[in-house]
Amino acid sequence: MTDTGQARGAVRSNEAESTRENVGSASETQQSSRSGLSRRTMLQAGALAAATLTATRAQAQADAPAAATGSVAGRPFRALVRSGTTASVEDLRLREIEPRQVLVRTTASCGCYTITRSVLGDRDYETPTIPNHSGFGIVEAVGAEVRRVREGDRVLVCGTPECGVCYQCLHGNPEACNYLNSQLFNGPIADMADGTGVIQQGAIGGLSELMVAMEEYCIPLFTDLPDDELSLLGDTLAAGLSSALTYGRVEPGSDVVIFGAGPIGLAAAQGARSQSAGQIIVIEPVAYRREKALELGATTVLDPNVDTDTLVERVREMCYGPTDRLDAGGRYGPGYRYGGADFVIEASGGDLFPPAVETGPDTTGLLALRQAWDITRGGGHLTLLAAGQQGEISFPTARFCLSTRSIHGGQMGGMHPMRDAPRYVKMIERGSIDASSMITATWPLDGVVDGFRQVADRTELGVVFTFG
Ligand SMILES: [Zn+2]
Ligand SMILES: [Zn+2]
Repeated sequence: MTDTGQARGAVRSNEAESTRENVGSASETQQSSRSGLSRRTMLQAGALAAATLTATRAQAQADAPAAATGSVAGRPFRALVRSGTTASVEDLRLREIEPRQVLVRTTASCGCYTITRSVLGDRDYETPTIPNHSGFGIVEAVGAEVRRVREGDRVLVCGTPECGVCYQCLHGNPEACNYLNSQLFNGPIADMADGTGVIQQGAIGGLSELMVAMEEYCIPLFTDLPDDELSLLGDTLAAGLSSALTYGRVEPGSDVVIFGAGPIGLAAAQGARSQSAGQIIVIEPVAYRREKALELGATTVLDPNVDTDTLVERVREMCYGPTDRLDAGGRYGPGYRYGGADFVIEASGGDLFPPAVETGPDTTGLLALRQAWDITRGGGHLTLLAAGQQGEISFPTARFCLSTRSIHGGQMGGMHPMRDAPRYVKMIERGSIDASSMITATWPLDGVVDGFRQVADRTELGVVFTFG
């Protein structure tokens, strides 16, 4: 980074020099316009051009791969592999990486509820697969065309890529970057002992001593924060923060309602707190998670199992405000069709497995989805993060069409990974976001199945897998 900064400085200083020189030599240029350029002017111009070119080359070299890394084929490593209906830690041999791929030695990987089915489910895997869809580690090798990261970098392999040049990225939606279609480049990265090729879930994997990722998924992070905390920025913590800070961006003094106080909902609460929201109402059936929400920013916590039928009205009442004087910033009563919260984030989802703790009033997750929509005020923002809902949902047509709610999809909460991951690092460094409290259990590679059982049971809030 320092080299790059110096090179850029060199370019700028040469440009400034060139400008001054042009001003200073104006009379000489006029003089030479009749007789051609003077020898002095030509020599100066040539020297400046050469200096600028040298600086530009230095810049280009700074952005190029640090070194052409040698072959990595055959390197042994261990990973959790789903094959058939089994999940086991296997000894694998790495294949050669492609020119635009990055080899990462994994140091930490986030346990995510979406992945519980990939680790614990009974699906029959025809192709052996390393589960998970994010990780953090050290760059061990880069393909010849990689520019974004270098050997030795600390790197986040993010659950969502950002290429910066596809249609979605160019139109302001990198959370839907076309590289997210991982099927296009998800070839085998390693071989089992019998020679069978092994692929990575989402072209990332993560429950493995090594990850092979396309450059577009890799974000170098320049910080001293610990690996386990940074691994959360590839998944749950970043998704929750982004839901409060990107498309439905929480405003100071606003009313925020969050369904779910799992890792994503609690991150959303922290994001809302960082924006000085007026109130943050968190709705969560699990008692210890409600307690955690109060520690991390919630101003009120509600159990959706208590008086479930009146939950919407009660929350709308809380968001009603201090006055009904319409000429003084007031609103109609809470029953008015445009009443409700300014920002609503749905992060509860459905149950993929029966939890070992309290469960909500609807295991499909559809009730919370519908309540979240009902609680959003006309003109407000609703961000839908959760996964695992089962079934279909319907809305009253006129209200659906006319209530002017903005609905935002929850792919990574709307994160713009290259822009936002460094932002979140700074927020953690400054203490406005508490990442360490989001980790309550860590497991080694050999404990992955046990760790994911805790994620599925919801007995732990934040599970991280650490390597080496
Ligand atoms: Zn995830
Ligand atoms: Zn893209």
